[in-house]
Amino acid sequence: MAGSDTLDEYRAKRDFARTPEPPGGREAAAADPIFVIQKHDATTLHYDFRLEVDGVLKSWAVPKGPSTSPKEKRLAVPTEDHPLGYAGFEGVIPAGSYGAGTVLVWDRGTYQNLTQKSGREVGVAEALRQGHVSVWLEGERVRGGYALTRFRTGKGEAWLLVKKDDPGAEPGRDPVATEPRSVISGRTLEEIAAEARGG
Ligand code: MN
Repeated sequence: MAGSDTLDEYRAKRDFARTPEPPGGREAAAADPIFVIQKHDATTLHYDFRLEVDGVLKSWAVPKGPSTSPKEKRLAVPTEDHPLGYAGFEGVIPAGSYGAGTVLVWDRGTYQNLTQKSGREVGVAEALRQGHVSVWLEGERVRGGYALTRFRTGKGEAWLLVKKDDPGAEPGRDPVATEPRSVISGRTLEEIAAEARGG
């Protein structure tokens, strides 16, 4: 998969003299691992889905964002590991920099690993190596079980993010469309961009 146990690729892609993104760091330790979904208005708008695993944020770019319907399969393309401190990042990555564009924290919270194989729990890192992980998300907008499943390996590695059919499923809801603001600042992408311009 893209990325490794280290943040070398993350750091190599960025000039920290130019971008406001963090070079590393971490959030305060929580009892459960964290997840974050960042809305990123880059070349194409997408949602970055990140799970804390072994001290880094394993990351996927989800073009359509998460669905709350078990019938919707959302493409998730792996990207490089990000530092834990990235979970609180929102702001504007300047033009000319990797990932240039505005970022907001669309949802965040903790998660629990639900992955089992033959009745036994499989650790998240091992589950990701095997290409299937099930997690219970405790976000503000997104709650309940989600499955991430790899369906293509190699250069075009791709996964699917799918809501599990549980009490957290709400097929009629479309939070990506109806809840555009940051859960930490209440701002829209446009407001964050305007503030960065000094507007
Ligand atoms: Mn992104």
